[in-house]
Amino acid sequence: MKLYGKDGLKQRLESIAAKGRLSHAILLSGHEGCGKKSLARYIAQLFLCENNACGQCAACRNIEHDGHPDVIFVKAQCEGKYSMEKFREVMRGTVIKPNNGDLKIYVFEEADTMLPQHLNALLKLIEEPPGHLRFIFTCENTSLIPETVLSRVTEFEVPDTGVQDCIQCLVDGGADPKKAKELSEMFAGNIAKCRAVLDGGSETKLIETAQNAASAIGRHDKFGVASALAEQSGRAEFAQVMEYLSRIIRDALAIRCGGEAEFFGGKEAKKIAESFSENEILTMLDTSFEVAKNEIYNLNLPLTAAYFTSKIFGG
Ligand SMILES: [Zn+2]
Repeated sequence: MKLYGKDGLKQRLESIAAKGRLSHAILLSGHEGCGKKSLARYIAQLFLCENNACGQCAACRNIEHDGHPDVIFVKAQCEGKYSMEKFREVMRGTVIKPNNGDLKIYVFEEADTMLPQHLNALLKLIEEPPGHLRFIFTCENTSLIPETVLSRVTEFEVPDTGVQDCIQCLVDGGADPKKAKELSEMFAGNIAKCRAVLDGGSETKLIETAQNAASAIGRHDKFGVASALAEQSGRAEFAQVMEYLSRIIRDALAIRCGGEAEFFGGKEAKKIAESFSENEILTMLDTSFEVAKNEIYNLNLPLTAAYFTSKIFGG
C-alpha cells in the first residue's frame, strides 16, 4: 500500500510489527487530511496480513478498499459528534468473534469528537482487551482526549504529506499533472483537500462561493458580496469561504504590485486589482483577517457578512 510522504513512519511501524510488538490500542494524531485513515488501513494490514502488509493478499486488498469484515471504521455522525445509539451498536459488536481470522480491528475516526462517556465505556476494553480486539484511534487534537485514554494508547504522530508527495499521489490517482501541482501548492500538500476539489464535492462549492463574492467585490456590488457570504450554512463553511476569499484578495494585491495570481480566482483578483487602489485592497485583506478572528461570526453569520461588506466598501 503506497503511503505518500510517510516512509519513515511506515518503516517504524513495520519494524515494530515484525517484532510482534504492535500495541493493541494505537492513536494516530495529525492535521486534517494528512493521511491518518490511510495509515490506519496500513496498520490493519500489519495486524491481519500474514506477510507483513504485502498489499497483494485478499486481506490486504479488502482492507485497502474498506471491504474487510473484521476492520470496522466508526465515524462521528451527526454534527461531528458520535451518536450514542451508534456507539452502543459498536460496543455490542465487540463481543462477537472475528469473521475471518483471529483479530477484529476497530478504527475510531475523529476520536477527539467522541463524548467522554463513549471514551469511558471504551476504557475497560482498551485496558484489558479480549484477545481478538485491536483499536486504532485517529484525531487532530490530542488535548481533547482524556488523559486516562492517552495513557493507555500508543501514539504516533502522522506527518503532513508535503507538496511533492501530494502531487505524486494525485497524479498516480489519474489527476492532470498541472492541476495536481496547482492544488497541491494551494493546499500545502493536503491530499484530502485536493481530492475534495477534484471530486467536485463541497470544497468546490466553497471555492465557487468565494469567487462569486470576489467577483461581486470587483463590480462594487455590495448586495452580491453580502448574499454570497451569508448563504453559508455553518461556521466552518463560512470560515473556509473567508479563507478562500482572502487568498483571492491577496492575489489582487499581488497583481496590483506587479505580481501574479496564484489562486483559482485569477480572473476575479484581476478585476479587483483594476477597480480598487492598493490601500483599499489592503483594507479588504485586513478586514478578512479581522472577521476571521471576530467573535460575532460565532453568533450571527448574516451580520458578519454585512459587517465585512460594509467595511470593505469603506463603511
Ligand atoms: Zn497481505
